[in-house]
Amino acid sequence: MDVLIKEFMDKIITRNQHEPEFLQAVQEVAESIIPFIEDHPKYKEHKILERIAEPERIITFRVPWLNDQGEVEINRGFRVQMNSAIGPYKGGLRFHPSVNQSILKFLAFEQVFKNSLTGLPMGGGKGGSDFDPKGRSNNEVMKFCQSFMTELYRHIHADIDVPAGDIGVGAREIGYLFGQYKRIQGEFTGILTGKAAEFGGSLIRPEATGYGVVYFAEEMLKTRGELLEGKTVVVSGSGNVAQYTVEKCIQVGAKVVTLSDSGGFIYDPKGIDESKLAYIKELKNVRRGRIEEYAKKFDCEYFEGEKPWRVKCDVAFPDATQNELDAKDALTLVQNGCFCVAEGANMPCTLDAVRVFDSARILYAPGKASNAGGVAVSGLEMSQNSLRISWSRDEVDSRLKQIMHQIHGACVKNGRLDKDFVDYTKGANISGFIKVADAMIAQGYV
Ligand code: NDP
Repeated sequence: MDVLIKEFMDKIITRNQHEPEFLQAVQEVAESIIPFIEDHPKYKEHKILERIAEPERIITFRVPWLNDQGEVEINRGFRVQMNSAIGPYKGGLRFHPSVNQSILKFLAFEQVFKNSLTGLPMGGGKGGSDFDPKGRSNNEVMKFCQSFMTELYRHIHADIDVPAGDIGVGAREIGYLFGQYKRIQGEFTGILTGKAAEFGGSLIRPEATGYGVVYFAEEMLKTRGELLEGKTVVVSGSGNVAQYTVEKCIQVGAKVVTLSDSGGFIYDPKGIDESKLAYIKELKNVRRGRIEEYAKKFDCEYFEGEKPWRVKCDVAFPDATQNELDAKDALTLVQNGCFCVAEGANMPCTLDAVRVFDSARILYAPGKASNAGGVAVSGLEMSQNSLRISWSRDEVDSRLKQIMHQIHGACVKNGRLDKDFVDYTKGANISGFIKVADAMIAQGYV
């Protein structure tokens, strides 16, 4: 089997040189899917894996805009339309200086499997720009978003491609992007998700990824007769996903002791409570400050330039960014007694870190399964927009819970290795793959 995986990867490497994140994402999928394909030759005959690893289309464009000093700035915009076999392309936009084609291809590739897992009719895509909203005025962010949409608008539509937020793209950016689309096209339609509730957004969409990853962790813990209540939890990041992971952990009675940003992490052994979380939301979403300020405000430790993985915990939620947790960190977590890791971010654990978790046989869930709650509620936002109705918080939350339960069930079905251990990566990859692959076969070579 290793030979087949290597042969496949050699071809992918040749075609995608200098794209390490994309190669990492494909390698992870190939390791689970190639053995599955060997047992199901129709997928081999139709070269499904080779086709799934090739984007249907990549759009790259110039984004010129004027900053507050009246100078011209130029960024690069992207949209990777990866796979539309089961529905319109769907996936977020990321604004961060690290954005490049490799990162967006890896995210779009993962999105194909994730969206399939939700059971909703959504294909996979991802986009963004190397623009950094940090330190920019609202006026500059608006001008950038308007210029970005002035090109993107011609490639998206409610039935073609429906972007959402991701790192650096929150409610503010979605609002500006939506406004510009509406102005250019002269139509009010659901071309973006993550909109504010006042203009077509779904209740629970801001919370969905963070709440969903906690619901998923609860499902995993249940398989070992455990609850999240009373557990000590380590979270990285302090953006959208991290904030709502913490909120749901507080609600279920777990104690969250860390948060981080790109500057470092805070360790609050007393635990983050509701009022401290309200402070974080104001700090990060309104003032756009640094997590270090939390440590000063609540008199706890701040570790500059470090990640929180050496803090003793039962459960870890990596919620910041890709490859933020390596094999050494994974070993430290396991040695300190951590027995459940659910990814809120996309691919935060390196392939070697995942191998450490698997060989220690702890509960580990890949983001494409555990963070699918965000896109699931985006799918529900699309349905509400099409029907021109809005569901209540309770209705959306119970649908989210049901979807996370169903994704967990699919992972267990296709990932059980023996009576005590589920390989959630294998389960997620195979479950996500089957639906897309069957649709691709049915639609011919397109
Ligand atoms: P936000 O922009 O709201 O927050 C990102 C957080 O991660 C910030 O705390 C940020 O710190 C930190 N971060 C970003 N880049 C780095 C880096 N290179 N090194 C260290 N820290 C970093 O983004 P989200 O919370 O929306 O997204 C977080 C992760 O979750 C991403 O991997 C995203 O793809 C994934 N995700 C998000 C979904 C959503 O619905 N929003 C859905 C599914 C997955 P700083 O402010 O200092 O940059």
